[in-house]
Amino acid sequence: MKTESRIDRSDLFIGGAFVDAESTARFTAVNPATEQIVGSVPDGNEADVRRAVAAARRAFAQWRTTTGAERATVLNGIADGIAEHADELSALVARQNGAPRWWVEQDVRIAEMVYRNAAAQAAELRSEEILPGGEYGNLICRESIGVVAAIAPWNSPTALMGMKAAAALAAGCTVVVKPAPETSLDSYLLSEICRKADVPAGVVNVVTGGAGTGAALVAHPGIDKVSFTGSTEAGKAIATTCAQALKPVNAELGGKSAAVLLDDADLETFTDAIPWRCLPYSGQVCHSITRIIVPRTLRDQVLEAAAAKLASIPFGDPTDPATIMGPLATAGQRDRVEGYLRSGREQGARLVTGGGRAEAFGTGFYITPTIFSDVDPSMRIFSEEIFGPVLTVSAYDTEDEAVALHDATDFGLSGAVFSRDIDRASAFARRLATGEVLINGRHGAPDVNLVRSFYKHSSLGDGMDLVSGYLLTKSIPRP
Ligand code: NAD
Repeated sequence: MKTESRIDRSDLFIGGAFVDAESTARFTAVNPATEQIVGSVPDGNEADVRRAVAAARRAFAQWRTTTGAERATVLNGIADGIAEHADELSALVARQNGAPRWWVEQDVRIAEMVYRNAAAQAAELRSEEILPGGEYGNLICRESIGVVAAIAPWNSPTALMGMKAAAALAAGCTVVVKPAPETSLDSYLLSEICRKADVPAGVVNVVTGGAGTGAALVAHPGIDKVSFTGSTEAGKAIATTCAQALKPVNAELGGKSAAVLLDDADLETFTDAIPWRCLPYSGQVCHSITRIIVPRTLRDQVLEAAAAKLASIPFGDPTDPATIMGPLATAGQRDRVEGYLRSGREQGARLVTGGGRAEAFGTGFYITPTIFSDVDPSMRIFSEEIFGPVLTVSAYDTEDEAVALHDATDFGLSGAVFSRDIDRASAFARRLATGEVLINGRHGAPDVNLVRSFYKHSSLGDGMDLVSGYLLTKSIPRP
């Protein structure tokens, strides 16, 4: 096997320069397909966090006074840099998180789009407005909230970090970014892109590290707002810290989304959606629709069709452009999913296909796409986020039962209804406790500015802020 070149960094992007980290602790990134070490980054400590926040605070004094049009120019410059380095960026992310090319190229494309959208919003921002009313009328001033901590996971790292940073920067905030330790090497390239785009020193700062680094960042009194995407568990810890300081936080969290097949569903339409909607990136996506709720009369047909589909999905080397499903992102992820496979068997679910490691590849954190049937809400594989290539199938007799099954988890992120009758599907979708419902595998408008609430434990706040989420509104009488 060819040995990959390692990228070892001991520096952090702070105050517009790459400076040596104070921390000597390190995180090592491993290629999930080859199990070779890709490189390492500092596990930032409190001193690193303090330096980054101080740089962001200094830069805020000036950045907040720039016009929306000036910020738009900088944001478009970042988008240009992402587009120019798209191949390099996506290859680097894929080496760390094992995502197949279609997924990682989409990750980078969305990031570019997000910066361009934020630029357009910045250009149109009205920082002052006069509203009539009262004795004097009101001068409404929209002011940047301050320094934002942006913390992201490894599964769609460029797009998710872009959504946070771009909106905050457009609003005149400065940011301290903490990428997931599994996907931090690409943040050096993104930092370089920021430098080339003339992002003023200190407006974007990056501290690499794990949960401890993130916790120190969230707790720092110089952070005015936190934007987080990750697990529900980490979201609760972050929300607790923010509550103590009455610090605003917006969080996109876990999911356990379900597809309900009505009795007139077209099975081919459903199975066609499996790779993209149910198990994108091997199910390691918050909106993966992994619980399948089917009329009892159709269950065996659905199981047969879904198992055939899983067997036909190109599965393997994520660098092969034909691959649709690759390995899991880390050995820990693989072990965690194996734990759920054991739990499914122990709690009485019926294994239909898959159920273990895909040994044929020799190396890599591969789990064979899996289906369990006869799954009910008492089972952990029904209620907990597996974050792997595992579908659960549960049967219903009445539509009321289908709604109850759909809603029987703590999450409410995404969902889907399959029916040949769009009006019927739409009426059924209205009954579901979730923030977004696909019909026959299709979204409504794929607009990055479309905000939907993620229900229940899938978010805190709306999940992801647009530019307005990083602005404060001041009202002054205007004689
Ligand atoms: P994670 O919560 O373990 O980590 C996410 C990020 O938070 C990482 O950067 C991590 O270092 C940091 N972190 C962890 N604990 C922290 C703490 N106490 N304080 C501050 N920072 C902390 O999640 P993960 O394993 O990287 O990602 C998978 C999870 O992310 C899944 O639950 C998935 O559903 C969720 N996710 C949600 C969305 C969404 O849009 N709702 C999108 C992608 C991923």
